[in-house]
Amino acid sequence: MSNVLIDWDNLTFSITPTKEMAISKCSIDGKWTPVEYIPYGNISISPAAGILNYGQGLFEGLKALRTKNNEVVLFRPIENAKRMEAGCKRLCMPIFPSEEFVKTIKELVKRNIDYLPPYKKGSLYIRPLIMGTGAILGVAPAPEYTFLTYVSPVGPYFKGGMTLIKLEIIDDYHRAAPNGTGGVKAASNYVSGMLPSKRAKERGYSEVIFLDAKHCRYIEEVGAANFFCVINDILTTPRLTGTILPGITRDSIITIAKDKLNLKVEERDIDYKEVSNASEAFCCGTGAVISPIGSIAYKNEVMFNKNQVGEITKTLYDLLTKIQRKEEEDPYGWVENVI
Ligand SMILES: *Cc1c(COP(=O)(O)O)cnc(C)c1O
Repeated sequence: MSNVLIDWDNLTFSITPTKEMAISKCSIDGKWTPVEYIPYGNISISPAAGILNYGQGLFEGLKALRTKNNEVVLFRPIENAKRMEAGCKRLCMPIFPSEEFVKTIKELVKRNIDYLPPYKKGSLYIRPLIMGTGAILGVAPAPEYTFLTYVSPVGPYFKGGMTLIKLEIIDDYHRAAPNGTGGVKAASNYVSGMLPSKRAKERGYSEVIFLDAKHCRYIEEVGAANFFCVINDILTTPRLTGTILPGITRDSIITIAKDKLNLKVEERDIDYKEVSNASEAFCCGTGAVISPIGSIAYKNEVMFNKNQVGEITKTLYDLLTKIQRKEEEDPYGWVENVI
């Protein structure tokens, strides 16, 4: 029986300290130490740590859910491991083995099981990190790395129906540059979006839509989520150019849209002006799964405006969230049991 006092009905997306976190260390060309499970809490690192000075680090994000039958499941954790591996290569950090990653996450979820919300009350958000924690004064890869994973219970993204979000296309700030690190979950990618996002909120929008840095014309992402729209009955999303983060939700949506809904899907450059021709639009990521877009404006001019959730958007949301909770057939083997 759980001895943890959490108000399951009032969880939000915020940090709740839990029981244990997982940690392992590695020298630049050495092997990772066996993963240790230690009490959740502060860590001590050198003031000259690579992550503190030069932002050498990345994160991942996934969640554990409870099913109707009280099983505990993860969604495609191997994809997070692979994406982390790609990020480690780009950021000159040693790779953390994929099988070890999945094994560690499962063990950590079990150890913090008292913090996993009941069925449909939210999820246990899992946040793995890899960062340069060795001391280095010059700009170069750190001599030592830390793999750290912590978890936190979070509430369901939508409480009582999906809510439509209001977005603003901006052209004076970009998220990622060609040949930069936009395609990996580098910690340093996220701070540059905070100022435009804050400004958009002050203007009454939920988030910004970033355009590509080279042409300042093609849609890239919505804050830190992938973008989709329906144009002439074709589910359309920006192609992965290297500046767009390859979302696992994005990939899952493309797959089920083709296989289960028999939809035509296109991954291509989307000129921002094309949103005027869209019948539906949404953004996606682990947190909300799918978040329907109500309106899109550019320089105060509304280019897309809907007052209800689109049919394809709703169908994809229901289908994907049911697969994730084992309430719909999963021919892909995406869902993995922890318990
Ligand atoms: C994490 C992230 C996403 C969504 O990825 P998922 O794997 O679906 O959670 C999209 N865009 C950015 C910039 C991200 O960091």
